[in-house]
Amino acid sequence: MIEPPYPYYADPKVICVACEWRGRLAERLDARNPFDPGVACYGCPNCQAIDDFLLACDEDGCWKTASCETPAADGYRQTCRKHKPRRQGETMKIWVCKIGDADGTALPEGSDLPMRQAVEEEYRHLTGKEPDFCFSGWGGELNEVEQKVAAEK
Ligand SMILES: [Zn+2]
Ligand SMILES: [Zn+2]
Repeated sequence: MIEPPYPYYADPKVICVACEWRGRLAERLDARNPFDPGVACYGCPNCQAIDDFLLACDEDGCWKTASCETPAADGYRQTCRKHKPRRQGETMKIWVCKIGDADGTALPEGSDLPMRQAVEEEYRHLTGKEPDFCFSGWGGELNEVEQKVAAEK
């Protein structure tokens, strides 16, 4: 359900949750609630579901759900995370760590998950928020310098 005030830009894109219909806010079916004529209700032109819409990202051509609200000069933008406008000097930070066992025998099956959880836990501790992303896996490789250090173990 999309509540006013609507975003500043004209005619936002919406998605029907029930049938994934994509369209414009103004394309929705528009009626009075029969039980409360003072209240408007909106229907999906494709499946007739009522008041079951999500706002889509306001970036041209992007149909991801709008999950970020960012103040802009003439109102605010509603975008997916990828299209969230970044402040000047604001860049993504990605921390990388390579940790391992040169023999490949120390870590038991399923070690990836608890190690990643430990990193996520410390991220929460340091920032007070959930990480926006956290990837880990066994595909890591060492550069030449790192290989020399590892070979000495
Ligand atoms: Zn629908
Ligand atoms: Zn987007």
